[in-house]
Amino acid sequence: MRKSPDLNLGEGTMWIGGESYWESLDAFHLASLKLTDLGYALEQHIESEEPNYHGVAKLPETPAPPSWQARLHTKSYLKCHDCGGYLSAYYFHAEGRTCHHCGEPLWRDMRHNFTFVWIQEGIEYPDEQSLPLPSNFYVYETWRWAPLPSTPSLYRRVLSTVGLSIRLDQAHWYEGKELLTSEALTELGRFVRHFTELDADEWDRLSPSFPRHGIEALVAVARFCHPDPSFS
Ligand SMILES: [Zn+2]
Repeated sequence: MRKSPDLNLGEGTMWIGGESYWESLDAFHLASLKLTDLGYALEQHIESEEPNYHGVAKLPETPAPPSWQARLHTKSYLKCHDCGGYLSAYYFHAEGRTCHHCGEPLWRDMRHNFTFVWIQEGIEYPDEQSLPLPSNFYVYETWRWAPLPSTPSLYRRVLSTVGLSIRLDQAHWYEGKELLTSEALTELGRFVRHFTELDADEWDRLSPSFPRHGIEALVAVARFCHPDPSFS
């Protein structure tokens, strides 16, 4: 599951699994202005398949595609240990190369003479996880498709918000893995409450006792979403 950033985009917006969900056109206007102020570019992700762009179509069998991708200019570089200069990440594999700032070799005795760093808005960070703002995320215009009714396949949409899916033919992959962490349950609960017709109070009551490990954990979510979920 992607970590949601500590970034408030205003009323009618929320984060689930690191992606942004916008509940109305008003929320859209405020949040998109805020993102532009922060330096993000919003790119239309997928053309809407709906004939009426502003209409509300319920397509429960089809996971709604994100409408936009927000991108913030962020780049990773190699930083020379000798002079602190930044070099294109392209040089990573180039043994024998030298830093084009100071001329020192980038590799010494099989060890690299640089560290990876990330630059966002002119400031250096040691890794992608420590960036204050995510370099990209999806935006969902939820008023187009929410609330989703209970159907045998609703669980697919619900689980996908935290990066989970059920593959019965690969059940061994899930064995022993903690799939429903407390964080995942919280994020799933938010999706259930805001974007489905399911009983969210019931979710809050029942979900803490769901199995957490293995495919049983995911099947419990599927059964919550519909009494007879379809796994085919
Ligand atoms: Zn250098």
